[in-house]
Amino acid sequence: MSLLIKIHKPIPHIRSFSVSTINAAKHSCKLLVIGGGSGGCTITAKFSRHLKKDEVIILEPSLHHYYQPLWTLVGAGVKTVADTRRPEKSVLPSTAKWIKDYALSIDPSQNIVKTTEGDEIQYEYLVIGVGLQNNYDKVPGLLEALNDPKSGVSTIFSADYCEKTWNDLKNFRGGEAVFTYPDTPIKCPGAPQKIVYLADAYMNKTSVRSKTNVTYNTCLPVIFGVKKYADALLKVVERKSINVNYKTVLKEVRADKREAVFFNADDKNKETVLPYDMLHVTPPMHTPEFLRNNKNITDAASFLDVDKYTLQHKKYPNIYGIGDCTNTPNSKTAAAIAKQCYVLEANLLNTMKKNEPKSRYNGYGACPLLTEYGKCILAEFIYDGVPHETLPIDQSRETTIAYYMKKDLFPFIYWNLMLRGYYHGPELVRNIINPLGM
Ligand SMILES: Cc1cc2nc3c(=O)[nH]c(=O)nc-3n(C[C@H](O)[C@H](O)[C@H](O)COP(=O)(O)OP(=O)(O)OC[C@H]3O[C@@H](n4cnc5c(N)ncnc54)[C@H](O)[C@@H]3O)c2cc1C
Repeated sequence: MSLLIKIHKPIPHIRSFSVSTINAAKHSCKLLVIGGGSGGCTITAKFSRHLKKDEVIILEPSLHHYYQPLWTLVGAGVKTVADTRRPEKSVLPSTAKWIKDYALSIDPSQNIVKTTEGDEIQYEYLVIGVGLQNNYDKVPGLLEALNDPKSGVSTIFSADYCEKTWNDLKNFRGGEAVFTYPDTPIKCPGAPQKIVYLADAYMNKTSVRSKTNVTYNTCLPVIFGVKKYADALLKVVERKSINVNYKTVLKEVRADKREAVFFNADDKNKETVLPYDMLHVTPPMHTPEFLRNNKNITDAASFLDVDKYTLQHKKYPNIYGIGDCTNTPNSKTAAAIAKQCYVLEANLLNTMKKNEPKSRYNGYGACPLLTEYGKCILAEFIYDGVPHETLPIDQSRETTIAYYMKKDLFPFIYWNLMLRGYYHGPELVRNIINPLGM
């Protein structure tokens, strides 16, 4: 009798595949890491040094790893998407066992994770770093418009569409350029406005800016969550004559009429329809299906429910979380993960020794806010929006050095140190050159 069960299931917008119990396998490990993105790779590298060969399993379906922070510069024509991509295999340690599959379900009381192909993985300890995904379906008309090469609609928040932003910019001949920020938590909350500033700079270069209205519609009530940098960014907005509409959220894209429909965050019945010649969308985001379907480990919003200081799961002490998929109230950035991985490593090692986790994450995050080709405000801050700067200068100023750090230094550190588990953020440098962090 055949045991073949076929379930066709569309997962993360790109692929569909089958589940076959015939090939299902059972695995067991000391540490299972779910997600091989920025957080998962870093933790896998660290624990592959603490544990023996194959004691760490990494569960990650993608064949490629992307350095997402460069997608902003792809959208502005400074880099290509190929510059941001490497084979997943090349960023994983050879001593860890890589299972190329999606986590489907978890039984945290039995320490078992099932995969979409039907495998079962028994773990002693678990780290979850499955990131955030774009939720195109929340905005009717958006996905169709993104997939139409001539629509003038793009997003830097995807490897599939960030080069389209650059194409749209190159083809733009003036008119209405509209940019958005959604009403969900997103990764890199600074990126939606970075692309506005770079687009403005490019339009100046090509002399179309004088015949263009640039509009930035954001669901937020402020331009940026940390006052020091918000004050500086408002000056940039003024200098560039950008129309900013707060509490204004994209509701629908009518690509056939080249219209974007927005609602007011305080009164959803209040609608505005804007015509556009170019529309850059920051899509709503949500956690992957694995978390949305396993409510036993998440909060009400489907984020992994961890302690914001120790990163340990609130209910299951042998589970930790890292990166964008957790409910820690920091800015969701790779910079945050650099600091988190240090805290998580120390705490998980303690948990493995049956001790309490002692290391505390202070909410550090950083956001290099590109304002021109060659200029950047390097925002660095901890929980509650307190600035925590590394350089002995006022980092709310637009500087050339911050631009080259973003473009060249941070990618170098990411590929060569962070993903190998050797980078914990700029704390050491800060303690030497700017101990007060002000
Ligand atoms: C346009 C843009 C600009 C940015 N700019 C900056 C910046 O300037 N500075 C900065 O520090 N950060 C920036 N970021 C944010 C940064 O890239 C992310 O915060 C970081 O990559 C998140 O890492 P992560 O490990 O949490 O998630 P990801 O790196 O997204 O990885 C999640 C992984 O989980 C896998 N996964 C999903 N579901 C499952 C499942 N069911 N089973 C197994 N695996 C699964 C995915 O395939 C993926 O590989 C930017 C991001 C974007 C998109």
